[in-house]
Amino acid sequence: MIAADDINISRVKNSKLKEVNLENIPFGKYFTDHMLEVDYENGEWKTPEIKPYQPLMIDPSLAALHYGQAIFEGIKAYKSPSGEAFVFRPLDNFKRFNISAERMQMPTIPEHIFIDGLRALINLDRDWIPSQEDHSLYIRPFMFSTDELIGVKPSEKYKFMIILSPTGPYYNTPMRIYVEEQYVRAVPGGVGYAKAAGNYGAAMYATAQAKLKGYDQVLWTDAYEHKYVQECGTMNVFFIIGDKAITPDLGAGTILAGVTRDSVMTMLKELGLTIEERSLSVDEIIDAHKAGLLHEVFGTGTAATISMIKELRYKDYVMEFDVDNLKIAPAVKSRLNHIRYGTAPDNYGWMVKI
Ligand SMILES: *Cc1c(COP(=O)(O)O)cnc(C)c1O
Repeated sequence: MIAADDINISRVKNSKLKEVNLENIPFGKYFTDHMLEVDYENGEWKTPEIKPYQPLMIDPSLAALHYGQAIFEGIKAYKSPSGEAFVFRPLDNFKRFNISAERMQMPTIPEHIFIDGLRALINLDRDWIPSQEDHSLYIRPFMFSTDELIGVKPSEKYKFMIILSPTGPYYNTPMRIYVEEQYVRAVPGGVGYAKAAGNYGAAMYATAQAKLKGYDQVLWTDAYEHKYVQECGTMNVFFIIGDKAITPDLGAGTILAGVTRDSVMTMLKELGLTIEERSLSVDEIIDAHKAGLLHEVFGTGTAATISMIKELRYKDYVMEFDVDNLKIAPAVKSRLNHIRYGTAPDNYGWMVKI
């Protein structure tokens, strides 16, 4: 661990906190007093700085704007009933960040910058962690290329930053999902397993088309046959079929390895379900639905934790779910929330105290 004096800290004179009401605060709209910023130059990371949250000055030729070397993470911090601050599984996000960095030909970030920087920043802005139920502090680490030069090549300079956003209950009504058969999010050999900014820009058109048809998100299918399901938006997806929980496997590198996905698999095992990580075809899902065995479908991700799905549509075939009478998804959500808010024991060492 680096000492605090390995990070240059300049504090705000006046906190903005008194101007913000932390109750029912919308997702991703307000930011705390400070941010972390560190530059990579000449093959090394410089000294991290924590400073007042402020706009960046960028050159119009900034490489990231043109050629898209940009990656990010999403993590949450919670306040326990006794007022202590805890972060959920940050080491898993740190590892995934470096997997994304490698895939995008960007420098990896040392643990002491990512984790200790995150700790120091949250420590400084800890009063911004909301304490109401279903509220948390969303942590957004990100990195982008900063060469000031037009030319398609890996940048020599990069910037890593962490910003923090207090957030209320995620807009989380049960979703209607459209099984996508025309557009693709990820292909084997592509960047689907990286949390790379371009993946989200590339998904927006298909999602907008599904919205025009009345759906909230698409469920992506494989690029070759549009036969096997992958994931939804920024969520991994689980199907409860009979007494099994089935989720697409990560093998082809076309699915983001969600930290919530992994946590939910642990919770499902605790509930006594058999977990299968494997390829799952739309045909199998429809057959299970026809046989009355497809009980629940839900999405998992840091922002919403668990998102119930009330309708899944493939071509003209519509599958509906009685979301008021689900058994598994609400149970998993509640168990996970108890661990996160410190009201149930953390048997897996997921919560990191700040
Ligand atoms: C972030 C993300 C997820 C969920 O990952 P978590 O670690 O659970 O937040 C799933 N799919 C995509 C495409 C994502 O970007």
